[in-house]
Amino acid sequence: MNPANPTMNATFSEILRALEPARTVLVASHLRPDGDALGSTIAFALWLKSIGKEVAAWNEDGMLEKFRYLPEADLVAAPSGSGRKFDAFIALDTSVKNRLGTVLDAIEEPATFINIDHHISNARFGALNYIDSASPATGQIVFEFLKAAGAKITPAIAANLFAAISTDTGSFQYPNTTARTFQVAAELIEAGVNVGALSQAMYDTQPRRRLELLRHALNEVKFFFEGKVASFSLTQADVARLGVLPEDNEGIIDHLRSVDGVIAAVFFEELEGGKVRVSSRSKDPRVDVCKVCGLFGGGGHALAAGARMSGGIAEVAEKFLKALGDEVGRIA
Ligand code: AMP
Ligand code: MN
Ligand code: MN
Repeated sequence: MNPANPTMNATFSEILRALEPARTVLVASHLRPDGDALGSTIAFALWLKSIGKEVAAWNEDGMLEKFRYLPEADLVAAPSGSGRKFDAFIALDTSVKNRLGTVLDAIEEPATFINIDHHISNARFGALNYIDSASPATGQIVFEFLKAAGAKITPAIAANLFAAISTDTGSFQYPNTTARTFQVAAELIEAGVNVGALSQAMYDTQPRRRLELLRHALNEVKFFFEGKVASFSLTQADVARLGVLPEDNEGIIDHLRSVDGVIAAVFFEELEGGKVRVSSRSKDPRVDVCKVCGLFGGGGHALAAGARMSGGIAEVAEKFLKALGDEVGRIA
């Protein structure tokens, strides 16, 4: 542990030593979870169980229907109870504490608080922090950790980590994908991942209502700043009309980003209670959407970041697009 320097990383052996005496462990990840959040959570929980810990795996949103294909998906539950006691708590893929939702409200302060993540904006809110912003996915860090722990990578752990890494790298395409990422993927395949079946579940299976959402998004898309920025919005009325779930909109933004000439794409989603969820993507490292989201209390990665802003959706869109236009304008 490095109490004198909270910005310094703990080592894997320090984390392992801290976990050793723990009998009960809670693993959790960020709300509105993606494949990295849930895959890393399940993989870590499975390993902890295999070494005899009593484990709970929580996510604010529970297990999403679209990630049901992950082996042992049933391990993940929504937070429950109050004053629950755990000897250790591990936050995965979570940049700031409040992205855990109500998870921490349901538990007593655990003796050991561990934070493992790859967000550059991570607030290092744990007692032991392992933050590697060069890693393309928390799942890749978890893999290295499990190897250091001498863990047996079972087929179920392998599939969860493969899904975590594959989804967070845009299927091994984003610039933070390294040779090591492919080496890890190869080891996971050797450990039993069925690439064809898993990839079909990840990328080639969607509910029809998601196609209706895509139809809506393509009708609504707007371009700004000489076509360098594209955006679309989804109101509560649209959600009700289309019958879509929050999990359906992940990835729709990629259609906007892929357009020739577009450098940054942004999606505005009206939430209940006067808030708007902003999701943004960049495809030019000189355009840092994490910085833009940071202006509005959000964060993430340079090329994929988000924020939650108060106000009406039109007003929020105007404010955010202005700031994004300034960022894009810097490189023009
Ligand atoms: P999303 O656009 O929701 O897929 O998120 C893109 C990235 O930004 C992810 O790495 C998120 O963890 C991060 N992110 C999204 N929303 C927020 C937020 N409100 N605060 C901090 N980070 C966020
Ligand atoms: Mn994530
Ligand atoms: Mn991630």
